[in-house]
Amino acid sequence: MMMGTDWRKRSVVVTGATRGIGRGIAELFARRGAAVVVTGRDEAVARKVADEIACIGGGRVLGLGADLRDPEAIETMAAEAEGHHGHVDVLCANAGIFPEKPLREMTAGDVDDVLAVNLRGSVLTVKAFLPAMERAGHGRIVLTSSITGPTTGYAGWTHYGASKAGQLGFLRGAALELAPAGITVNAVLPGNIRTEGLADLGEEYLRRMTAAIPLGRLGEAADIAHAALFLASDEAAFITGQTLTVDGGQTLPESLEAFTPASR
Ligand code: NAP
Repeated sequence: MMMGTDWRKRSVVVTGATRGIGRGIAELFARRGAAVVVTGRDEAVARKVADEIACIGGGRVLGLGADLRDPEAIETMAAEAEGHHGHVDVLCANAGIFPEKPLREMTAGDVDDVLAVNLRGSVLTVKAFLPAMERAGHGRIVLTSSITGPTTGYAGWTHYGASKAGQLGFLRGAALELAPAGITVNAVLPGNIRTEGLADLGEEYLRRMTAAIPLGRLGEAADIAHAALFLASDEAAFITGQTLTVDGGQTLPESLEAFTPASR
């Protein structure tokens, strides 16, 4: 009997995989031998990244373009992903945006943009892949949420925090609704992970954030990828509706005093 998940038989879709955390997730699944679909807004960019990942991974990597603000584009992407690899076993709904905007300056459009990608985009992506997972007779859905919103607050990212906490409300209902179909729904809650998106926040942000992480470093995309890989594995079959925080201990200290005796 084969021990462990045979990834060579699995087909995995990762949204927002043209860079950052999503790319790290896609690379890990590809290295394990899974067939992978990477998506981003621009098909040409997604195809280029797919080719790069195919070189380092198992080879079967497809790039698809779909702007998650567009419900029809999501449906088309889901159909193409299943059509290409024949089945979809794992969906990592990872794409997201995190623009900073003080509440006093926030417009309805700012709120709509963040919710459209992070929350509505996740919900509609999961919905679009359900028929494929039902046909496969099983499924693993892993959302990329955040510590921001579900666990912590961050001034300037109120709409973002709402979108990420909203994903967890969705996941709990979805886990119940999809359990009879053998589909599990879980979320990874990253802390501060070194990605292109995080780098956009500036050197000073990265320096101060590193100082706030007990394990003494920012996270890497691979740290999130390994958590997603576990939640997508056969070994995680009895886990659904749960969250896994991957933050280097950032959300643990109740105050600076609690941080570490060495720093006093
Ligand atoms: P990133 O480097 O900015 O990458 C974001 C990805 O999402 C890109 O591949 C981008 O692809 C895609 N994307 C953005 N808007 C999209 C849209 N409208 N439709 C389809 N795809 C879209 O971000 P990241 O840091 O890797 O973050 C990935 C996820 O992790 C997000 O959900 C984020 O909220 C979450 N997260 C990140 C951190 C962190 O510290 N980095 C912490 C907590 C949670 P294109 O540009 O090619 O369209």
